Amino acid sequence: MGFHTCEFCKNGEKGRYPNTSSGDVTLNFSSGNSYVMPDMILHYVFDHGWVPPKRFIDDVINGEATSSDRMQMRGSGLVSVGYLRESFETGSVPEGFIEKLEILMVAASLSGNRLQTKSL
Ligand SMILES: [Zn+2]
Repeated sequence: MGFHTCEFCKNGEKGRYPNTSSGDVTLNFSSGNSYVMPDMILHYVFDHGWVPPKRFIDDVINGEATSSDRMQMRGSGLVSVGYLRESFETGSVPEGFIEKLEILMVAASLSGNRLQTKSL
């Protein structure tokens, strides 16, 4: 995907999480589902109130992450959580979702599985 700045932030607006993405992260769950997402997904969810696909929320809340990978297509099981588009659903996510996702993203980053497409 390459370097990407959130296009939904107004000039100078800052949220709790970084609004730029330099890569994508893939998270694999014991459910067999895999998701690829920009590494600013926390910004989308927390700062813009975006509600991700329900199965993704369920996996983060209830599932067990088995590994994180550099982005690679793993057959048809890979779901793109993707970048926000013109109209996106807002609402609230279940309690604990942000915290769990943050842990998964940090783990992915620490394990070197965050794909850097351009250095920051
Ligand atoms: Zn934004």
